[in-house]
Amino acid sequence: MTTATPSHLHSAGPDLGDALSWLTDAAVARADAGLHRDPYVRDSAAPLINLASNDYLGLSTHPDVIAGAHAALDEWGTGSTSSRLVCGTTRLHADLEDELADFLGTPAALVFSSGYLANVGAITALAGRGSLIVSDTGTHASLIDGCRLSRARVVVVERGDHAAVRAALAGRTEPRALVVTDSIYSVDGEPAPIRELYAAAHDHGAALLVDEAHALGVRGPGGAGLVAECGLAGARDLVVTGVLSKSFGSQGGLVAGSAVLRDHLIDTARTFIFDTGLNPAAAGAALAALRVLRADPGYPDRLRANVIRLARRCGAPTPSAAVISLIVGDPQPAVAAAQACRDRGVLVGCFRPPSVEPGTSRLRLTVRADLDDATVDHVGDVVLESLREVGAQIR
Ligand code: PMP
Repeated sequence: MTTATPSHLHSAGPDLGDALSWLTDAAVARADAGLHRDPYVRDSAAPLINLASNDYLGLSTHPDVIAGAHAALDEWGTGSTSSRLVCGTTRLHADLEDELADFLGTPAALVFSSGYLANVGAITALAGRGSLIVSDTGTHASLIDGCRLSRARVVVVERGDHAAVRAALAGRTEPRALVVTDSIYSVDGEPAPIRELYAAAHDHGAALLVDEAHALGVRGPGGAGLVAECGLAGARDLVVTGVLSKSFGSQGGLVAGSAVLRDHLIDTARTFIFDTGLNPAAAGAALAALRVLRADPGYPDRLRANVIRLARRCGAPTPSAAVISLIVGDPQPAVAAAQACRDRGVLVGCFRPPSVEPGTSRLRLTVRADLDDATVDHVGDVVLESLREVGAQIR
């Protein structure tokens, strides 16, 4: 997360010949612009209070979830050993898919080895040459990459502009169309107009794909997501995608919808067919997490209470989901403030271009359900002190 020029750039290494020497110039330019990234290495011997993770419900360390992973390891070993279609599907994968479908109110679900691959696989299986995809400016990179790889014609409208979605669908010549959106936008945790997008798609004979990555466990009845909250669970021509890597504390992705959709993905989604199946330990952890959440539907409420408390403490508006974005503008003060938080024992996210628009670099706090009031208040105080120390103003 530092802005300093990485030391290895001061001398050209022998591994960079003529063909790759431009990498050094590119790296120096990124460092000068405050855009060099240096992944923070978590050390269990010196833990920080973590508000940078996507572990919204704190389930990645829940004893039942850890036990689920252990049991899967003992039963199935360390790898799924092949693609799902060869021999990488275990009873755990099948149970996870059945229980996810039940939770989401859809006839079927299919899990992938990451949320990224679920989105890329679903979009490329649903749209190709001769289709139209309508996307928006807030969608996650995995949806964007799915659109690019699909070879469909892609129209990108302003985030939230469902009238523009309607217009793009109405003016199309392609027989098939797909609208894609996040339900909760990943950068700032605000919702998309799901009901309006569904109506627009429905009125124009298009399907709607909704990525619920930041809504599962966070919004909707018992954490079943924004689609369920909008009364659209199991709706026709609706495809839900999601991740096992956030509220479920594990790793992996999912697509939920009709049984025919599931069959279609199994037969045609390249990121399903050619990728090694989801690791059994990840499947076991996700299944246990899903059961923990279903047994205690109070999780989203506890998360909400912490979101409200922390936003107030930071003097920020209360967001609709569990992401608090504190926009400071330039990347350098954002990085410095994140470092100052870390020096005080609190890990926060720091988003800079290209993850966000230039001029909107920010601290990004992802709240968790498992923090007590005193910790939430302490985090708020640390963030404010850190911003003050580096002279950064919240916009
Ligand atoms: N969709 C959204 C909205 C995301 O924020 C992310 C990743 N953080 C993904 C998909 C990709 O999921 P995964 O990290 O499980 O690959």
